[in-house]
Amino acid sequence: MALGIPSTRTDRAQTVRDLLAAGDRSFSFEFMPPRTEAAERRLWDAIRRVESLDPNFVCMTYGAGGSSRGRTVDLVGRIATETTLTPVAHLTAVDHSIAELRNIIGQYADQGVRNVLAVRGDPPGDPMGPWVCHPQGVTYAYELVELIKGIGDFCVGVAAFPQMHPRSADWDSDIRHFVAKCRAGADYAITQMFFEVEDYLRLRDRVAAAGCTTPIIPEIMPVTNIKQLERFPQLSGSAFPADLERRFRAAAEDPEAVRAIGIEHATAMSERLLAEGAPGLHFITLNHSTSTLEIYQNLGLHQR
Ligand code: FAD
Repeated sequence: MALGIPSTRTDRAQTVRDLLAAGDRSFSFEFMPPRTEAAERRLWDAIRRVESLDPNFVCMTYGAGGSSRGRTVDLVGRIATETTLTPVAHLTAVDHSIAELRNIIGQYADQGVRNVLAVRGDPPGDPMGPWVCHPQGVTYAYELVELIKGIGDFCVGVAAFPQMHPRSADWDSDIRHFVAKCRAGADYAITQMFFEVEDYLRLRDRVAAAGCTTPIIPEIMPVTNIKQLERFPQLSGSAFPADLERRFRAAAEDPEAVRAIGIEHATAMSERLLAEGAPGLHFITLNHSTSTLEIYQNLGLHQR
């Protein structure tokens, strides 16, 4: 498979925008700020293992509130300065004034971080609870995109939803608002996790039909244990595909078999998405690198 990955660090594009504009496919991994010292050690083990694969970028998510938010800023800075990886910092509008958002973006600029993923975020506690805008904040992701773009030369990503955003009334408004985010300056999008390739292809067609060419990178999350079947609808607001769920449930007593089905399914999805022309793949790691590295190997994206 000719994947068009830059072969050395020196020819690496420093923003996701430059990488995609060069026609290269992007391979990336997502981490989240850890809560304990032991979890932090696990995170760094995973980061170091992923580093050996020389991915195009790694993302660090941003919490809905509390102290993990400061940890995102610190971890992104450490990734930028202590590793060879290109970090993408997630940022949300939840409970932040515009002045606070500017301050965080300024900290990234000081660390030389130029890639930010701008998402609105969900209300802490209940993702489907009422959205309350900070009195001096912003309400939608497109406003966050405009804010970041107005501060400096940042490459900004946004979120896309293969099964429609759970708060959207219908597909028309969902696509209209997605396109507005792109027109506000988003350079690319990463999708919510999904388990049926057709959902991604339909979203891509709808966005293209609306005249928008912003690259949409599909997010891959391998199911590695049965509990994740329950987590998926909570995280995505969408039902898990019934046929696939039956396969997992039939193997529920055998954790290794569940993991094997998850990896096989994620590998098959990844192969098909690349064959369908997806601009790259973004892997959720949950701070454990093993299963994503296995999929990476299955795809022939070997360690260099
Ligand atoms: P928006 O684009 O603002 O859309 C939210 C809803 O409002 C949609 O229904 C949209 O159609 C509607 N809308 C948009 N504009 C308008 C308008 N002008 N008028 C009326 N309605 C409008 N959450 C975190 O807390 N931390 C993270 O790090 C994080 N990372 C993520 C990464 C990815 C790749 C994805 C897919 C999601 C991530 N999330 C994260 C979750 C995200 O914050 C939620 O899914 C959130 O509900 C949606 O964010 P958004 O940026 O798509 O919002």
